[in-house]
Amino acid sequence: MKRIFAVSLMLAALTLTSVGAESGECTENAESTESAGSSESTESAGSGVSLVASEVRPGKGVTEMRSLSDFVPALARTPFDAPVYLLSGAPSDAKASSTSGASDISNASNASNAPFTAAIIAGAHANEIAGVLAAYWIIERCEVLHGRLAIVPRANASGATWSLNGAQAPRLVELNGRTIRYGTRFSNPLQETEPDPEQFIPPLATSTFQPLAGKEARNLNRAYPGLLDGRRTAQTAYAITAMLRAESAHIALDLHEASIDSALTWSIITRKEYLDVAALATLDIEDTTGVTFHLEDSRDEFAGYSHWEWGRMGVAAFLVETPNPAQPKDDPTVDQLHHAKAPLALRVYVHLRAAKALLENASAMSEAKDALVIEGFPSSVEEVSRWLEGI
Ligand SMILES: [Zn+2]
Repeated sequence: MKRIFAVSLMLAALTLTSVGAESGECTENAESTESAGSSESTESAGSGVSLVASEVRPGKGVTEMRSLSDFVPALARTPFDAPVYLLSGAPSDAKASSTSGASDISNASNASNAPFTAAIIAGAHANEIAGVLAAYWIIERCEVLHGRLAIVPRANASGATWSLNGAQAPRLVELNGRTIRYGTRFSNPLQETEPDPEQFIPPLATSTFQPLAGKEARNLNRAYPGLLDGRRTAQTAYAITAMLRAESAHIALDLHEASIDSALTWSIITRKEYLDVAALATLDIEDTTGVTFHLEDSRDEFAGYSHWEWGRMGVAAFLVETPNPAQPKDDPTVDQLHHAKAPLALRVYVHLRAAKALLENASAMSEAKDALVIEGFPSSVEEVSRWLEGI
């Protein structure tokens, strides 16, 4: 009760920072030499599925593996194909589902017998590595006891095959016994099926939408809901949208990072109809991490963005931003692990606690038959540090 009252106050007092499309989710224009060179990179011909498999070691919580090409066959064996890890729990007892809702008879007439199903998408921008690593943590260490969770840890695997600073190969971040690719926010132009257009307009944009620069056609988080017969980036967006539909996802999180001095760091972006879930989650995040999150509202000028387009489909969609000290120009001299203000372990930890808070609050407010119960989230930054560095 106290919680609900606190959230009402929060929502009443909430001044949503109005971010214009220009300053929207991690839109920094990294004006780097975006030339991937003319010779083929060694990874350009490989499948994104094997790229991801070389970075993550699925744990016993993973009950099934699919790939984006299951939803768009044209992606098979391309650098854009990427794994989808599924973690499924057992059905809970009927009595268990009546304990969380205020109206406990609603389930009797609820047509949906499906368990609460969540999706976590990371790596849409392959340089925003804290989100990718948070997804890897869940794949390696979490178990779903009830409900269902689908994870795409490298949504744009092509973006992980090259580096913006003129390099054909991605930069690498060495961790404890594993190498993580620090890629870019755009698909690799050598791997696209079409050259960049003069200007880019997302598929469902309104007639007043201001066109974006042509290279944004390779920005996965401007391409939703995607196009089945579009360029590879658009097909990748379509596959993710189709996966959310096939899973009947109740909630989907999109994990990102922004420049350390951006107004978007430590924020959750969502449509107005899901602000109550986000507001509740910010209380949990502050309790467990000490970090104060703010909320941003999604609007129709965010056509093509996950939080707008998935929300349009009826999925409770949330984009979470942590600070990446190397952005916006992906400065290779920045120490990702030990940066004084935004060390990698803190960013990964906050992503994980934000995910837990959003999923649990959304599940508690849902009438789905089985609430989502996940074990294995870290309880301290140190736990994540040990995982990343082995010390
Ligand atoms: Zn991003």
